[in-house]
Amino acid sequence: MERKKKVILSGMRPTGKLHLGHLTGALESWVALQGEFQNYHLIADYHALTTNPDSSFLYQNSIDMLIDWLAAGIDPKISPMFRQSQIKEHSELHLIFSMLITTARLERNPTLKEQVRDLAMESLVYGHLGYPVLQAADILLYKGEVVPVGEDQLPHIEITREISRRFNAQYPVRVPIFPEPEGRITKFARLTGLDGKRMSKSIGNTILLSDAPDAIMKKMKTAVTDPQKIRKGDPGHPDICLVFSYHTKFNPAEVEAIRADCQAGKLGCVDCKTRCAQRIIEALEPHREKRAYFESHMDEVHSILDNGEQRAKQKAAETMNEVHAAMNMG
Ligand code: SF4
Repeated sequence: MERKKKVILSGMRPTGKLHLGHLTGALESWVALQGEFQNYHLIADYHALTTNPDSSFLYQNSIDMLIDWLAAGIDPKISPMFRQSQIKEHSELHLIFSMLITTARLERNPTLKEQVRDLAMESLVYGHLGYPVLQAADILLYKGEVVPVGEDQLPHIEITREISRRFNAQYPVRVPIFPEPEGRITKFARLTGLDGKRMSKSIGNTILLSDAPDAIMKKMKTAVTDPQKIRKGDPGHPDICLVFSYHTKFNPAEVEAIRADCQAGKLGCVDCKTRCAQRIIEALEPHREKRAYFESHMDEVHSILDNGEQRAKQKAAETMNEVHAAMNMG
């Protein structure tokens, strides 16, 4: 008998075209896991409103992101991709869950503490406080058992587990409705941006997966390197060099030779960056080709999204039927 696959729920806020950090920090592991698990991929458009309530770009951003998911290898036949806003059950389950967790617990969430530190008090909205509750609804609606996350997201998974336990205890049925999902840390840490800060489109320090070769070459020239290596003959320190970390990811065959030549002052940063850009261009070539295919077959893209939303809706409705029955509110 075929073993039932565990369910993975993973998603991103729709920020439009994706960059290298998304590829190495999330997409590659999603693709690697899709045979072993049943994956659901959420376009978290409601979550995006937390930081910017302007919704005018959300649809186009969602489509741009979806195309990058497809180009990276997410298979729509086995992994539904869907917008959070189109599955109304997310909002309903969020409401139910909001009764099962105290505000004191949510105020202890480290991500909220960071936002309180970074934002003006008047910019903090209920959505910031309730973010992990909506996330719990996103995961548990599909009975997600595994959630690929960065380390900073682990506290949110813990809140999801607490809400799951609380619901199951409050509304007991023969087989508890919700699992307690585990966070799975993504293997390759998210790449740093070209300026040495967190890679982010809003900062403008990214290489997009859709960038043309000449754009990649141009951007790579701006990358920060070891500040002590001014001339080619200066001995460099690859372990503190951003470009070297890109070589580690995209140029594994040459990485040790580059380390040795950098340290010995035999390799200059200009040449090193050119080689790095070339490897990235080669690595992204299949992605650019697939992206171009989907951009010229938009009917297919819309139909993939439509199909993903129908499948997600079906699963969400099944879960909510169980929830209503357990709560005697059917
Ligand atoms: S030679 Fe390469 S690895 Fe060494 S400091 Fe320059 S860019 Fe970095």
